[in-house]
Amino acid sequence: MKLTGLDLLTNPRFNKGTAFTLQEREDYGLTGLLPPVVSTQEQQMQRSLLNLRNKTRHIDKYLFLTALQKRNERVFYRILLENIEEMMPLVYTPTVGQACQEFAINFRETHGCYISWQDRGNIANALGNWPEKDVRLIVVSDGERILGLGDLGSNGMGIPIGKLTLYCACAGIDPAHCLPIMVDLGTENEALRTDPFYLGVREGRIRGEAYDAFMAEFCQAVQDVFPQALLQFEDFATPNAIALLERYRDKQLCFNDDIQGTASVALAGLLAATRINGKRISDMRFMFLGAGSAATGIGELLVKAMQREGISETQARSQLVFNDSKGLIVRSRDQLTDHARPFAADLPAMDAAAALEAFKPDVLIGASGRPGIITESMVKALCAIHQRPAIFALSNPTANAECTAKQAYEWSDGKAIFASGSPFSAVEYKGTTFIPGQGNNAYIFPGLGLGVLLSGATRINDDMLISAAECLAACVEQTQIDAGCLYPPLTDIREVSAKIAVAVAKTAEKAGYLPAPLALDFADHVRAQQYDPKY
Ligand code: NAD
Repeated sequence: MKLTGLDLLTNPRFNKGTAFTLQEREDYGLTGLLPPVVSTQEQQMQRSLLNLRNKTRHIDKYLFLTALQKRNERVFYRILLENIEEMMPLVYTPTVGQACQEFAINFRETHGCYISWQDRGNIANALGNWPEKDVRLIVVSDGERILGLGDLGSNGMGIPIGKLTLYCACAGIDPAHCLPIMVDLGTENEALRTDPFYLGVREGRIRGEAYDAFMAEFCQAVQDVFPQALLQFEDFATPNAIALLERYRDKQLCFNDDIQGTASVALAGLLAATRINGKRISDMRFMFLGAGSAATGIGELLVKAMQREGISETQARSQLVFNDSKGLIVRSRDQLTDHARPFAADLPAMDAAAALEAFKPDVLIGASGRPGIITESMVKALCAIHQRPAIFALSNPTANAECTAKQAYEWSDGKAIFASGSPFSAVEYKGTTFIPGQGNNAYIFPGLGLGVLLSGATRINDDMLISAAECLAACVEQTQIDAGCLYPPLTDIREVSAKIAVAVAKTAEKAGYLPAPLALDFADHVRAQQYDPKY
């Protein structure tokens, strides 16, 4: 199809706006439709950046960038690529949280697919209406657990859109292959149901067998309509997130970033930490504050990583304990969730502070959503046990972190190996500058997705997640490790993603998941295939 005239100017994928040359203007019927000056893409970027930076509110910057994405995709992605540290918090957390809360009121034009309860029995047809036929990557949410904001119903669509933007910017996946989807099965959020502007289904959530049947039809429809697509589940509430992953991970190409991506990025940080404390993963004991899908997902992958180092599963599990809002999770508890049960400790019930004294962990990981629950006395107790304890405060956003970077370094007298889920600035303590690493899932999922797409892998297994983690840990320069930083700079993300893609594909090949052997020059192929938004 050859686009001409206004059709070309309103198509964000092909639109070059004022950068269309005079010859192109003549060839495509654009003469007279544009101001006479021909801009370069650099000039267009500078113009957009000036407008963007003139805005003071983050949400206005987000809306400006979204509009740019719908107007000129290549300028949008070049701005992201060349300013990733500035843009990441605008197109994803934390700004995307507010964008979701205000999604309905700011709604301008549709993007992606909305599949709701009324579409049951007809989901494949609805997906078939998406104009791009070569979809390779889908991010789907049901909006029930959007970031730390809870049930946002169909307003949660900002998350699949934002996540796919990161796949494209960080790994170089072609936006033409990406499809964001909201499955709208109602919401328990009363304020939304009575909001006159809300665009989703104004009913309570469909649950139980009806939900499972709907999701079964949806997953089958994805396979039928987009047989090559990787389906990424995103921001489902923990019980559904775990159930969907368990049900489909061996049946179709799927992945849950909240569980598996988090686990892989945390493992990468812990592997980098072993370069500081000189231990192996299987030498260490881990205590978690939080026992939801993020924490137990990390726990399960740690168990696999420890087994690979030669210890038994039983031994590995005995080196992990979990706490939730009621304290240490022990076998004598009346009600244990299915995902926490395999980690229940053979200890009497006690609170987290007592558990720390009793269990003597090398590593304390917060994934609770509760700010401040890693206390000074806990950090001091850790330091009394180990020379270089690791403290990961993973809860997002920054205000929810279980402790701050400054607290971790000060309370430990500079001994803590610290990482967080959201960014913290560098900390000066007793003449040393500590650079806290951010265990951002964006280090893992884009490269993982790229490796899967380019290799044609048909499944994602734990070994692939471990390979991604090992690769990421190896990308951290010694100078960064010396400053206490467990992750590479975000500015390296595209090259890091390319390396992860290669590592993941090689592991998929070993698992027998590839339709054909990897070409000898697969690493070059990955780099050649990375989406380049330059005109
Ligand atoms: P979840 O709601 O399923 O789990 C939260 C858990 O914390 C529950 O087990 C709850 O009982 C427990 N908890 C609550 N109060 C507690 C307390 N005072 N002490 C100990 N435990 C307590 O949520 P989730 O999906 O598992 O996510 C948890 C957190 O992890 C979120 O804050 C999220 O921001 C963070 N997270 C970070 C990353 C990352 O940094 N890469 C990725 C995913 C999730």
